[in-house]
Amino acid sequence: MAAEILLTNVRLIDGLHDAPLERASILIRGDRFAAVEAGPIPAPAGARVIDLAGKTAAPGLIDTHVHTVAIGDEGLKLFMANGITSVRDCGARLELIVEVKRALLSGEKLGPRLYFCGPLLDGAVSSLPGPSGAIMTQNVPARESIPAIVGPILDAGADCLKLYFGLTADMGEAIIRYAGGRVPVTGHIGFMRASEAVKAGINGLEHISPSVFNDVCPAQFRFGAGTSMAGRQFVERLRAGWLAADFSAPEARSLIDAMARREVAMGTTMNINWLFRAGYDGAARDPDRRYIVPKILADRKKVAAAQDKLSNPDWDLYFSRLAPEVIEGERRALEKQQEFCRRLYEAGGLVVGGTDAAINYPPPGFSLMRELELLAEAIGAMNALRAVTSKAAIALRKQDDIGAITPGRFADLAVIDGDPLRDIKAMRQVSAVFKGGVAYDPKAILAELPVNPNYAEA
Ligand SMILES: [Zn+2]
Repeated sequence: MAAEILLTNVRLIDGLHDAPLERASILIRGDRFAAVEAGPIPAPAGARVIDLAGKTAAPGLIDTHVHTVAIGDEGLKLFMANGITSVRDCGARLELIVEVKRALLSGEKLGPRLYFCGPLLDGAVSSLPGPSGAIMTQNVPARESIPAIVGPILDAGADCLKLYFGLTADMGEAIIRYAGGRVPVTGHIGFMRASEAVKAGINGLEHISPSVFNDVCPAQFRFGAGTSMAGRQFVERLRAGWLAADFSAPEARSLIDAMARREVAMGTTMNINWLFRAGYDGAARDPDRRYIVPKILADRKKVAAAQDKLSNPDWDLYFSRLAPEVIEGERRALEKQQEFCRRLYEAGGLVVGGTDAAINYPPPGFSLMRELELLAEAIGAMNALRAVTSKAAIALRKQDDIGAITPGRFADLAVIDGDPLRDIKAMRQVSAVFKGGVAYDPKAILAELPVNPNYAEA
């Protein structure tokens, strides 16, 4: 067995308690936490003792919504560099995700613990056409096809199932029934309403923006069977609907109450709209832009070239500028989603901070730092941290293994320079990351990654 490690004098945010402990001690034995104390722990013989005075220890972070097949090996490393030691892949063809998992477990690839849902289970017609759809989705054409499609996903060791936008309410319900509680079922839904999914026994919803839309936005904006997620019209409809959303309307209140009562996890993914929050110039100057991953950059370059946009110096961020009033509308729609998050939290609901890391900006890992900022504004820094640690572990049903610094769980933690409870942005100052008791150096990981040449030139 590896030597024990004793961390001393650290400010401890354990993921469970409301307040931090000052000058705490953490004993790691093998790949698990062996003891956690408010004061000193006598050093066992042969233990490596690390004094962390002035630093904060937080549980290894969990991103509950990523797409590892879209982000390449660099994306996996970016999670580790940002203190993220566990991720749930929320949509990938089974054979692809099983291979990523194998490569991570064997140590061939450096990255976080990987839990996975398997493919996005979509309706008869694909809601996500194109290259992303090809690596992420699986159509479920009819009830009769459920066992032949979903059975093998469960047999392959999926940790969860993910319902997708084009499933009708009866098909969604039939899949939830087929899963029979063996694994949690989550969904990025659209044809099926959140209220219907909650009633059918769904365990989570992904993305505040589209998944609760039909219950919180006025009737004239709602999606129905046949609504396409493609194109500008869909985005405009989402924005208009969110701007008009009324959370005190009976349907919205009833959804929030039902989600809280049944502990349905809300994966927030608000950072997707960070570009609107930062503004074009803010995004262009953002140092996170350095780490837009090569795989996604290459895809965007192809699209930019096809649209004759490569002369735009910011094609890695966006293809064409939207009007200022559109940006302002998106920014206000994001505030409404933060308000939904706050209301759900205050009703006792389970808020968890996934990111949908599969998009260009913010890049993987850094996207969870942005999600934390948005969550902290909505529900406070400590609750935001729990949304990406212990609460996320509950949503994944992995609370025996991850999400808290407490005896018995995996020794996954991030050492932070500074105090994230004073300023959540301190979570970016990660000086060390432990996964299963093994230490990694975030700066060394970042130093070896390629820099987005588009940013370097800017
Ligand atoms: Zn996603």
